[in-house]
Amino acid sequence: MKLLPLSCVLHALSIVHAFRYDHLVEHVNSHQDQYVQALREWVSVESDSSDVSKRAELHRMMEMTADKLRAMGGNVTLVDIGEQQLPNGEMLALPKVVTAQFISDPLKTTVCVYGHVDVQPGKLEDGWATEPYNLTEINGNMHGRGTSDNKAPVLAWIHAVEAYQALNIELPVNVKFIIEGMEETGSNGLDAMVVAQRDTFLLDVDYIIISDCGWLSLRPALTYGTRGNCYFSAEIEGAKQDLHSGVYGGTVIEPMTDLIGILDTLISPSGKILIPGIREAVDPLTDEEWKTYQDIEFDMENYKNKLGVTELMYNNKVDLLAHMWRYPTVSIHGIEGAFSAPGTKTVIPAKVAAKFSIRQVPSMDPEVVKKQVTEYLEAAFARRKSPNKLKVTMMIGAKPWLANTQHVLYEAGKKAVKRVFNVEPDMIREGGTIPVARTFQDVTGKGIIMMPIGGFDDGMHSQNEKISRYNYLEGTKLFIAYLHEVSQIQKSRRPDSQHQLTLLTHVDMVGLHAFLSQSTLFVEKGAVCTRPPRMTVESSASFPAVP
Ligand SMILES: [Zn+2]
Repeated sequence: MKLLPLSCVLHALSIVHAFRYDHLVEHVNSHQDQYVQALREWVSVESDSSDVSKRAELHRMMEMTADKLRAMGGNVTLVDIGEQQLPNGEMLALPKVVTAQFISDPLKTTVCVYGHVDVQPGKLEDGWATEPYNLTEINGNMHGRGTSDNKAPVLAWIHAVEAYQALNIELPVNVKFIIEGMEETGSNGLDAMVVAQRDTFLLDVDYIIISDCGWLSLRPALTYGTRGNCYFSAEIEGAKQDLHSGVYGGTVIEPMTDLIGILDTLISPSGKILIPGIREAVDPLTDEEWKTYQDIEFDMENYKNKLGVTELMYNNKVDLLAHMWRYPTVSIHGIEGAFSAPGTKTVIPAKVAAKFSIRQVPSMDPEVVKKQVTEYLEAAFARRKSPNKLKVTMMIGAKPWLANTQHVLYEAGKKAVKRVFNVEPDMIREGGTIPVARTFQDVTGKGIIMMPIGGFDDGMHSQNEKISRYNYLEGTKLFIAYLHEVSQIQKSRRPDSQHQLTLLTHVDMVGLHAFLSQSTLFVEKGAVCTRPPRMTVESSASFPAVP
């Protein structure tokens, strides 16, 4: 008789173990008030990474995260990622990154959950209906800055692990965490940490899971792509000081007129990007993509109403979704140095700088975009024959990310969604940018999935941000189910991690340095956000108990 190797026997035994999903669900339901209380405590910390005066709170938030994971028996480290330089030259300590590990069984798959616990600014006077840092539940929606982005999803992952522990059910996979505190200002220091830990903390990781986005509708979704972001400043300088328009108007060539003139050459009224080379670089829409978009649940009228607009750039679902996710776009954000206060100041500003960005897509390279935009604007400016000076700078060059939806991770994701919600998930992309996804992909070569639990109307980055109690709890169940489904991915179907490692060891240090210098986000004045403010959607008065 032939004996099976021990690992096969153990593997078979682990499959035989029935998945006690119902017990875990019961546990989540009966502990919901504790989960809400945990969220209340986290939301009360003003961990705004863009406001340097709040840095102590941010450090405290990282400590709280570490304490929570430590209390659960995790092997926790607070990783020092150095300092950031402020515009005035001062150096300020970055919040440490929390890494944690639960069980370490070489026979099991290892997943690493990425999340962040820093938040966007939130002030009552910005138009919040409730105190932003005091979790307030109204009709099943829990309002507070950082609820949906990203504190509740991080807690849901922690509670998913905790539920297995509480019921003495062995975790089906090894679970690791990487929780950072600078995501909202460009994940300063994280790229270098990921590179540094590639052969240590990340070495045995098979898959990376990110839950830092939202659904598109009431239907649960899996996200398989994000756009990148090339953020520019175009500065035009004229006279040595601001001038009186009555005294000097008509005698000088005004920087603002030049600036508006060149900005107007970027994009046509119908949304066509006019910079040569950009549209040509985009992959054509495939029939398969068209079909995917066609099948997605998306109500155009609802979308218009939420935004408070009467017309959209495209009047069919497929075009609209395609331009939200898989085509690049130009947005003009503001003009520094321009008169913007109330009143009627008659000034000719001496120096103005426009801020605009291009959300770019997988076949576009930020370095190429930088060259295309700079040359194009310089040529447009030259045609004006202006004596003023133009300076174009790319401040952020964050790359897009795209996953293969046929990957085993997505198959497991669909099964988990089906188990918890009894529907097939929408397969969606994200118009915004989550730069760390591309970093993980480039540095580790591991499979990555984005598994959102936020609602489509959570108002991330906006006033009255919220997550519903429903999404928070069902999201926790989704993560519980997902850990099980990932454990069911047979070793034979896992991408050959050994092969990937071999590939990676051939990436020389020059390559890594090149990667780092390319992907480092240049965040000027500390407040540029690498993700767009989500649709400013008025928070709905109530969220249905069940979608
Ligand atoms: Zn986020």
